[in-house]
Amino acid sequence: MDLSYILNELGEERENYFNAIAPPIIQTSNFKFNTVEDFRAALADEYQGNLYSRGFNPTIDILRKKLAALDGAEDALVFSSGIAAITVPVLALLQSGDEVVCVENPYSWTIKLFKEFLPKFGITTTFVDGTDLSQIENAINHKTKLIYLESPNTFSFDVQNLEGVSKIAKANGILTMIDNSYCSPLYQQPIAYGIDLVAQSATKYLAGHSDVVAGVVTGKKELLEKIFNKEYLNIGAALAPQNAWLLLRGLRTLPIRLEKISDTADKVIAYLNAHPKVERVLHPFSATNKDLALAKAQMKKCGGLFSIVLKDADLLKIETFCNGLKHISMAVSWGGYESLIIPACAGISKADFDANNNRHVLIRIYVGLEEAEYIIADLEQALSKI
Ligand SMILES: *Cc1c(COP(=O)(O)O)cnc(C)c1O
Repeated sequence: MDLSYILNELGEERENYFNAIAPPIIQTSNFKFNTVEDFRAALADEYQGNLYSRGFNPTIDILRKKLAALDGAEDALVFSSGIAAITVPVLALLQSGDEVVCVENPYSWTIKLFKEFLPKFGITTTFVDGTDLSQIENAINHKTKLIYLESPNTFSFDVQNLEGVSKIAKANGILTMIDNSYCSPLYQQPIAYGIDLVAQSATKYLAGHSDVVAGVVTGKKELLEKIFNKEYLNIGAALAPQNAWLLLRGLRTLPIRLEKISDTADKVIAYLNAHPKVERVLHPFSATNKDLALAKAQMKKCGGLFSIVLKDADLLKIETFCNGLKHISMAVSWGGYESLIIPACAGISKADFDANNNRHVLIRIYVGLEEAEYIIADLEQALSKI
């Protein structure tokens, strides 16, 4: 489907709301029925229509149609956060005794889901590096019900072979799910590679303005209907219509934001690669990525997220550099208009910090919509302090 059509028209039934160009925020909790017969039908199958806004709502429906089309999926469910869009489907599809194979180092709360939450319900997880298909193949057994991917992940940017994993999964009757937040549907299309469920933190690029927390999962209607009718309605992590509207607004400019961010990131990365105080830059398209060819085959571009390691990095150097930034903000999240930085050491107690641990010395940078020169000048003055 044409990207411009999806973002500008799909799902927008303007004749139903005074031909307004901007869609309405249908701020209602419930919907009225005129006959018991209609009411009974709606109660019997909430997936078919509007009954109560913990399930569906017309503003939410516009968003679902667009997000499904962007992923090339049959349908989409939206959630009040990205982590809900991961947790709810996983809870819906697994039961006690099932096993999961998950890539190492996914998003922090995804790790907690698999390591701490699911074991309470008798579901166990094997973590594998995932950059080599044989590791995944060796980790599965007859109890494995889900292979969970995050390609690339958002700190070290490891990639997995999506087509290869989906083939292994299909041959063994195992579902596959990916966190595609890093690429967004514009830069990677996991469903085309045979992945069953695609989750994203819509808080990031899709919303794009650092003013809403939201999540989405896309896939086959049959699978999403199953998730919706039980865990989605039971856990009650629906997106509010107001936030769906903010997401619709954000989506209008997704292509132009991502293009600008990617171009700026290329310039900032070239600057950092040449800087004598920078040891290396990590991102999927980096010349030092051992899976560069795979990354380039699966992904169109990289967006604005990458990590750096300072030369002879220690805690003092990392902290001096980060504390010295004047315009790039130190904060969690990414995908908005503003450039951000997050040193891995901020999540590690000083006593546990190990300068020889590759992951401890990472500094993640997110390039926003500022001009490249503005970002580079800020990095330059902070690097000059170490
Ligand atoms: C932020 C993020 C999430 C979680 O999304 P929330 O909207 O914060 O709940 C999941 N995966 C990745 C890769 C993220 O960056």
